[in-house]
Amino acid sequence: QSKEWQAAYDIIEVLEGAQHEAYIVGGAVRDTLLGKKVHDVDVTTSATPYEVKALFTATVDVGIEHGTVLVIHPLSAIEVTTFRTDGEYRDHRRPNEVTFVRSLSEDLARRDFTINAMALTRQHQVIDLFHGQQDIKKGIIRAVGDAHARFSEDALRMLRAVRFAAQLRFVIAPITKQAIKDCAYDLTHIAVERIKMELDKAMLGDMGIAVQLLQETTLDHYLTGQWLVEQWRGFQIDEAQLGWAYFCYCNEPEVASILAAYRFSNKEKQFIKDVLAATHQRITDGYTVMDYYQYSERVLLGAAKIAYHRFKIPVESDKIKNNKSNLPLKNRQALAVTGYDLQVWCNKKPGKWLKEALNDIERAVLYGDVLNDKQQIKEWYCNDINER
Ligand code: ATP
Ligand code: MG
Repeated sequence: QSKEWQAAYDIIEVLEGAQHEAYIVGGAVRDTLLGKKVHDVDVTTSATPYEVKALFTATVDVGIEHGTVLVIHPLSAIEVTTFRTDGEYRDHRRPNEVTFVRSLSEDLARRDFTINAMALTRQHQVIDLFHGQQDIKKGIIRAVGDAHARFSEDALRMLRAVRFAAQLRFVIAPITKQAIKDCAYDLTHIAVERIKMELDKAMLGDMGIAVQLLQETTLDHYLTGQWLVEQWRGFQIDEAQLGWAYFCYCNEPEVASILAAYRFSNKEKQFIKDVLAATHQRITDGYTVMDYYQYSERVLLGAAKIAYHRFKIPVESDKIKNNKSNLPLKNRQALAVTGYDLQVWCNKKPGKWLKEALNDIERAVLYGDVLNDKQQIKEWYCNDINER
């Protein structure tokens, strides 16, 4: 068993030793039952945050107002959250305050979907008050309790339903799906950062399923850009940013507004822009030496995946990697001459000519006209000048 798992069991043992209840809960239970890799193990307990802190030597208050204390176990840090129900909901968003409760059942009842509302004891017994195991077997995302009420409380849950359907290749239960349709407008109350986080996770799953659901539930009306099933079906990727680049490719006239609407960082924007440019190159003339030089391997492979998805242009990832790594020059810094060398050779003051000369040399090295060696570049460059 993993380190996280062992750490969680140790922490539960300590809590139980102090007469508290404690369980593994949520995603870890779901993923274990699905036979999937568990990435983080959360513990829920009847102990209050102060009781938790008193029992462990090393803790961090990561979200104490929501009942969460991070317990630092030598094997792994584990989030321990007090049984709670959510307080008043304002504006269809997460509640500001929470109420601690003493029963597991109340805590499980405030969770979003039946597959996420199960707890596991230290004796490996599954506590499943809402038939989550049955829904896992059948592949169904189903709201816990009254679906309309649950989506009305927190509109993000609608997008979480779509995200889990895409990740797990599950369907959404009919009543739950109808409730999403009825509450879809409330998505407008949710911060775009939270929306993006769910879409990021969906993009690593089956986006054909996700986009189909966005349309069927009309959630797509409240998202910037067009989401079309035909464009996404069968597009399998392993990083969300490439999904966003593809989304921009599909909505090219609107790229600027999409980049702004989803609040991408400058680094993300640069990646997306590079992938867009590289994709166009890929589907028109194919990659040139200059493309291998100016784009990262990640951009080159990403754009090739898009070109394959849209036009069945073979990806040939080994060829791309080889061409990239066999370039005679990795970057401008690796050039064997500097602007200063050129000034000395030509006995000229810096100016526009210098930039052009460096560009010419860079290009000549890249295309193999001259080796990236100071002496050889000098000869090549000075001959060239004399010829002119
Ligand atoms: P992942 O594997 O993506 O982390 P997860 O199920 O662990 O999936 P988290 O967002 O980490 O999802 O949340 C942990 C648990 O908290 C969920 O399994 C669910 O029980 C509960 N939860 C999270 N967000 C909500 C929400 N908006 N409404 C109700 N319950 C929620
Ligand atoms: Mg989680």
